[in-house]
Amino acid sequence: MAHPAQDDRQNNCQGGCLCGAVRYRVAGPLRPVIACHCSQCRRATGHYMAATAAAHAHISIEGADNLTWFDSSPTARRGFCRLCGSNLFWEGKDLPYISITAGSLDSPTGLKLDRHIYVADKGDYYEIADGVPQSQAFEGYDPTPPQG
Ligand SMILES: [Zn+2]
Ligand SMILES: [Zn+2]
Repeated sequence: MAHPAQDDRQNNCQGGCLCGAVRYRVAGPLRPVIACHCSQCRRATGHYMAATAAAHAHISIEGADNLTWFDSSPTARRGFCRLCGSNLFWEGKDLPYISITAGSLDSPTGLKLDRHIYVADKGDYYEIADGVPQSQAFEGYDPTPPQG
């Protein structure tokens, strides 16, 4: 799917929070970015959530004692830095991957926005007009990252 140069970069991806207390490294492929416009993501992020994802086995976290998890629904939790408040992760119960906020990645990411989801729940103060496919829920789109 991706060309080799992109794969190389995505196999050595790093990121972290605004203050630097929480850093992470991904030693495996990343999923393209999905923008979620659901009301939970909008409240948690202040706008909408743009996230890539990686298999659990491929992500390692430094400063995890500064990472706080909030149970945002019965089936998911969100991870943020307890010092600076940066939103870093979304983790669905029983899913084999962890979603990572695209804005927390170090540049260049080599990633592209691939999908807008929960578009019916978007805020009324913006339009989605970038030509990227839109759907409510996933509708046939598999959000699981490559397992590498
Ligand atoms: Zn921080
Ligand atoms: Zn959402």
